[in-house]
Amino acid sequence: MTGGDQHPGELVIVATPIGNIGDLSPRAAATLQEADVVCCEDTRHTGQLLSRLGLRTSRLLSVHVHNERERVAEVLEMLERGERVALVSDAGTPAVSDPGEMVISAAIAAGHKVTTVPGPSAAVSALVVAGLGTARWRFEGFLPRRGTERAKRLGEIAAASHTSVIYESPQRISSTLQDLAKCCGGDRKVAVCRELTKLFEETWRGTLAAAYERSAASAARGEHVLVVAAAPVPERSSPSAGEIQSAVASRMSAGASRRQAAAEVAADLGVSKRFAYETSLARNGQ
Ligand code: SAM
Repeated sequence: MTGGDQHPGELVIVATPIGNIGDLSPRAAATLQEADVVCCEDTRHTGQLLSRLGLRTSRLLSVHVHNERERVAEVLEMLERGERVALVSDAGTPAVSDPGEMVISAAIAAGHKVTTVPGPSAAVSALVVAGLGTARWRFEGFLPRRGTERAKRLGEIAAASHTSVIYESPQRISSTLQDLAKCCGGDRKVAVCRELTKLFEETWRGTLAAAYERSAASAARGEHVLVVAAAPVPERSSPSAGEIQSAVASRMSAGASRRQAAAEVAADLGVSKRFAYETSLARNGQ
């Protein structure tokens, strides 16, 4: 406890491996060892992880999708008492398609310190091995299973100007690839990342049509992430000479010099200033 602080407790969000125990960081191990309480989805699962790591923690508290709301008050009381509470999920980063969000936002709202020991997450791991563009990307989590919500999300992915990262269960991978191929077009690039960091890790890269064909041919096994490329940028057709000439003429009639008008039109239509200028002169036979 830090003396004098009004809210001395701390909630630490700790990432755990998504398949390879070697990926648990030394700082994550120390945090789990030192925590007064480790909140976890499944006490047996986390208990096994801790014992494989040779760690002893004082207390495990289950916080899963069915009881998180009720656990919030309990966790807040622990933080009020000045306890150091670690939050983990079964695998990867808590609160990323996993429980944790309610506890985290309640701790923040109550003014407690909330920090993280970052580490594995299937989303970022898949994004970087996919090779489909990392500058702008969106995490889609699990898509809605059916209905208009699913259609809307598929439409957004089809139109997206960023890479999309989707979690999917092996039972639904084929139907999701089929829907994606229908919405985005079969030629859109995709990476199907399976069992990342595990013994049978595989990243298949190709088109949505080929990925669907492949998934329909044999039953998928293991954990999957789909990474879908952004929608292709439509090619801008070159402006005609007439288009350039009338655009320059209309700016000149509004008072611009030919040079100035040509520069503005060049920027608007994606041609060089010189080309716009010379094309505008051609109209006048100059
Ligand atoms: N919180 C986790 C994280 O940070 O990645 C995700 C938990 S979510 C309940 C589980 C989903 O993550 C799986 O259905 C799969 O889509 C993806 N996933 C988890 N581990 C994976 C792995 N080793 N390889 C591929 N996908 C994985």
